[in-house]
Amino acid sequence: MTPSDRVLSAVDAATDEIVEFTRDLIRMPTVNPPGDGYSECAELIGRRLAACGFDIQYFAAEGLPEHTAQHPRINVVGHRRGATDRPLVHLNGHFDVVPAGDGWTLDPFAGVLRDGRIYGRGSCDMKAGIAAAIYAAEAIRRAGIQLNGSVEISGTVDEESGGFAGVAWLAHRGHISSARTDYVIIPEPLYVDRICIGHRGVYWFEVTTRGRIAHGSMPFHGVSAIDHMAIVLEKIRRELMPRLTQRTTEMPVVPAGARHATLNINGIAGGQPVDGIQTPCVADRCRAVFDRRFLIEEGFDATRREIVDLLDRAAADVPDLRYEIRDLMVVHPVRTPDDSPLIGVLDHGLRRVLGRSGGLVASPGTYDHKHVTRIGGVTNCVAYGPGILDLAHQPDEWCGVDDIVNATKVLALAVMDLTGTPN
Ligand SMILES: [Zn+2]
Repeated sequence: MTPSDRVLSAVDAATDEIVEFTRDLIRMPTVNPPGDGYSECAELIGRRLAACGFDIQYFAAEGLPEHTAQHPRINVVGHRRGATDRPLVHLNGHFDVVPAGDGWTLDPFAGVLRDGRIYGRGSCDMKAGIAAAIYAAEAIRRAGIQLNGSVEISGTVDEESGGFAGVAWLAHRGHISSARTDYVIIPEPLYVDRICIGHRGVYWFEVTTRGRIAHGSMPFHGVSAIDHMAIVLEKIRRELMPRLTQRTTEMPVVPAGARHATLNINGIAGGQPVDGIQTPCVADRCRAVFDRRFLIEEGFDATRREIVDLLDRAAADVPDLRYEIRDLMVVHPVRTPDDSPLIGVLDHGLRRVLGRSGGLVASPGTYDHKHVTRIGGVTNCVAYGPGILDLAHQPDEWCGVDDIVNATKVLALAVMDLTGTPN
């Protein structure tokens, strides 16, 4: 048996443990917001990593407002040195999950195992990925192989809310950085036979239109901020949306609809609260929050300018239309370089394990890749892990046991390849 044969057998032999550990993780309802049970989950991961020969460090996101006594933001990092320090391969998974929401036919936090699927909130996004990462490294150890380099595994918080207390915090403090980290793989659920090379950009912004209050029985004496927001929305629908749907990125974003630039209106509020006691008043203020996903080809500056131009034209066309725009969040797009060794190595593993080549995809949303690259400076970063993207954040979320086992194998082979360990 070759070393890699022994590693693949070790993964098969560990199948029950991998499944049980995934179920244990799901049973910790690490719901974000608000960020429940983070300490306990970090410790569960830390104990397992320690049992697998890792040196463990816990990092609380000191100094950030979301790190509170009630909801501490605790990350865990395990480091296992091989024959040398470098190359260092870092596998990162977030252990926060979005709220269960309605529509479940089973307990979202029981870790139900049925017909070869593990059900539960966070099963695919991405507790199965964390289990796969840990057991990929563990299978190498159980096969009696010493790595030519080192492997690190982190469990981090708050990816679902931006990752600022998680991967961004670790990257800011140099724990994930190009000075020490050579490769990062994030086992997010982007299909077990796909390699994800990045994501589109995000621009969240708030637009406020301002009017003039007047008696509601004589609305002609006032200026309705709601009417003016309606004009803005109509302009967006007629002028901007057709342009956005025509713009297509070169990146292989899935699903295909997300290969275009998109815009969603997150929320809108104007005039008096509709649940309150009503008074006859013309609305003097209306606010709406927008979620614009932009393409790497568009860039942020042009994206913002296009919005401001549209608002300026609305203000020029309509007397008394006044607006303000406020940037809420900007995430720049990222893309793994075409020549990154990660792509070839994972593809090699996929051909070995699944018998087919791995296609490249890009994510419609964003994930922690942005922090790894933009803060940590590590350009060799991809997402690869078990699970079906479309099931993330849905009721009855599940991850297939076969997916988890296959992803564990692919990750194990990738860690060996990237560290130059004979296989
Ligand atoms: Zn995720």
